[in-house]
Amino acid sequence: MSATLYDAIGGHAPQLRRLQAAQAADRLPHALLLSGPPSVGKRMSAIALAQSLLCHNPLMRANDCAVACGVCAGCRKVAADTHPDFRRVEKQEGRTQILVEQVRDLIHDIALSPLEGGGASPWWMTLRR
Ligand SMILES: [Zn+2]
Repeated sequence: MSATLYDAIGGHAPQLRRLQAAQAADRLPHALLLSGPPSVGKRMSAIALAQSLLCHNPLMRANDCAVACGVCAGCRKVAADTHPDFRRVEKQEGRTQILVEQVRDLIHDIALSPLEGGGASPWWMTLRR
């Protein structure tokens, strides 16, 4: 079994298993809020999930959960924040919150068809204090 980004995330095994099981059952919610103190793995978890959705060669685990290979073009683009079907919205430098305009842009982009992925575009938003 190859190590994946999911494997590198420490301390959140039950939550990650629930995410993977929801994905395997094609029952991922339309939105997820990953909250918690800084540096607990929220960003890594979101990237791991996005990679598993956009991976070209997902690895199947014994529990029927697909995890990203981490090396294909889709995985590398998500990691580099250059995948056309992956949006990351974060507070802009010097701002205390995500701007309404950022959310409007995101809503516009979500309505577009995926450019590379077969399904709906995954996206995520990070709110930091
Ligand atoms: Zn991949």
